[in-house]
Amino acid sequence: LANRLQNVFGKLKGKGKVSEEDVGEAMREVRLALLEADVNFKVVKEFIAKVKEQAVGQDVLKSFTPGMVVIDIVNKELTNLMGGTQSKLAKSNRPPTVIMMVGLQGAGKTTTTGKLAKLLQKQNHRPLLVAGDIYRPAAIKQLEVLGEQIKVPVFSMGDKTSPVEIARSGMQHAKDNGHDYVIIDTAGRLHIDESLMDELKQIREVVKPDEVLLVVDAMTGQDAVNVAESFHQQMELTGVVLTKLDGDTRGGAALSVKAVTGCPIKFAAMGEKIDALEPFHPDRMASRILGMGDVLTLIEKAQAGIDQDQALEMQRKMRTAEFTFEDFLQQMEQVKQLGPLDQLMDMLPGMNKMKGMENMKVDDKQLGHIEAIIKSMTKDEKIKPEMINASRRKRIANGSGRTVQEVNKLIKQFEEMRKMMKQFSGMMGPKGPKGGMK
Ligand code: GDP
Ligand code: MG
Repeated sequence: LANRLQNVFGKLKGKGKVSEEDVGEAMREVRLALLEADVNFKVVKEFIAKVKEQAVGQDVLKSFTPGMVVIDIVNKELTNLMGGTQSKLAKSNRPPTVIMMVGLQGAGKTTTTGKLAKLLQKQNHRPLLVAGDIYRPAAIKQLEVLGEQIKVPVFSMGDKTSPVEIARSGMQHAKDNGHDYVIIDTAGRLHIDESLMDELKQIREVVKPDEVLLVVDAMTGQDAVNVAESFHQQMELTGVVLTKLDGDTRGGAALSVKAVTGCPIKFAAMGEKIDALEPFHPDRMASRILGMGDVLTLIEKAQAGIDQDQALEMQRKMRTAEFTFEDFLQQMEQVKQLGPLDQLMDMLPGMNKMKGMENMKVDDKQLGHIEAIIKSMTKDEKIKPEMINASRRKRIANGSGRTVQEVNKLIKQFEEMRKMMKQFSGMMGPKGPKGGMK
């Protein structure tokens, strides 16, 4: 989806002015792209109609950057479609706050339970996990292992006690031990069936949850929407967690779930690791789909490990393309601490485009080589890569123990990256898009 939309807007960007016809054409492409991404067709239809209406209503022809206006409208409408603003987790004024996780088997409930506990723990809460899936072999063990990993206690009573009873006792345990959050992991089935729903309803009666979160696999596309609809009818969901957003480019589920069920998406999971869960930001997801890169999420992630000034400076440099090899190296080092490279690359503007280019692929081992090469440059060379001529390249290669070809390749990559950033910042304008990035 991202690629496709990028092409569309690439076309718009190239022209000085956009005619009504162009907008119509672009919208046809957007429509196709959304359908391809498995967005519910009704949702697509409404979406297109809304954007068209606005784009034509606006003075697109007179606009200085017509492409930007259309992007802005598409961006805003996508954001609205996904719920507008970020939807926060409920908090009970009589703790503990109770969160019940529901969903089909394999959607990621147990994993997400662990991830959510980790997030809460980071905010200085004291969550308790309750192992309520007694059916899937090793489900209890799975949760216990996760709990141990993050040092969060897991309440379990084995698989001989009913889940309803486990939930009841778990609640008592939380109260007795001063936990302010209880997250209840429940069983799933391959398909929605009545006995599952009955059991979930009984648990709900007993624990009176503040949140009933449906965990859905984003990769299942249109099915995710159907699942969400049925669960919502029966369980009155308070929110949705979309998992496996790392696995596929199809943002279809994210786009339709909220629109169809009315339930806000509260979290997004993008990996199997315990910290691969983030609050879901509709505006950022929209930008990401539009290929602007999820700079904000990246910055936020960076802030966990890097001080804020540094992060802001990085953002500024990326925007103004005033970027040296020193920054490049620094960024690489930071990136290394943040998590899997692939995932992070996706978040950088223009990077998802780059990832497709064979010579742009970077893995963790190569990072070490890149580091060595950059460290063999003089200070001047790092700031003004243009000055690195053939003899300098040879010296750098010798100094770093890499080949001249590798040095050449890195410099070429760096230059392309700079160019890309310039293009990106050109598109965004000096102050960012109108009403776009904050
Ligand atoms: P449950 O049956 O709903 O409890 O699902 P699990 O939590 O056991 O997860 C099923 C599988 O999906 C496991 O192999 C998880 O590691 C994997 N998984 C969960 N969330 C994600 C995610 O965000 N990304 C990826 N790639 N895999 C995930
Ligand atoms: Mg499970």
